Amino acid sequence: MPNESRMTQHLDPRAPWVISTHDLGRRPGSMRQMTLSLPAPADLGVDMIGVPKDAEVELDIRLEAVMEGVLVSGTARAPLAGECARCLDSLTSEIEVNLQELFFYSDEDASEDDSLLDGDLLDLEPTFRDAVVLALPLSPVCGEDCAGLCAECGVKLAEAGPDHGHEMIDARWASLQGLFSENDNDQEK
Ligand SMILES: [Zn+2]
Ligand SMILES: [Zn+2]
Repeated sequence: MPNESRMTQHLDPRAPWVISTHDLGRRPGSMRQMTLSLPAPADLGVDMIGVPKDAEVELDIRLEAVMEGVLVSGTARAPLAGECARCLDSLTSEIEVNLQELFFYSDEDASEDDSLLDGDLLDLEPTFRDAVVLALPLSPVCGEDCAGLCAECGVKLAEAGPDHGHEMIDARWASLQGLFSENDNDQEK
């Protein structure tokens, strides 16, 4: 049974991530190289880092007509903004992901998770979104040498200096320590 919900959802040709494949004419072997600059979609990220909404995403892609559909391959580069997982400072960075997706002409050839063309149109946003989410670092750091925060008091170690530390003597050892220093004193006498 054809999946009707997929077919009734038509793409908006004016949406930034919707690309027309009209000029390929469904002739296997015809292809087009494109460089695009598109606004990042909203809510693209994980807990600590993501691509800011409307940030400029640079795409360098190739559309290639094959028997079953149109193959899109290439790269996308986007800025990142987030928080260092160690020191919690804000950070910015960049991500580059590979894109590869076959958009099928008909859902007769495609399985449930495959992407479909809507007439001549394809929507590259889900492909880009999936690639970015998989590539995002789970624990982004502001620098590989970031010392993070003091586990005792939470101060930022990079600012507190190398001498920062806490006297951490367990109460049970404290009495013993007193004992040793008394002995030391005895020897000196
Ligand atoms: Zn940091
Ligand atoms: Zn501390």
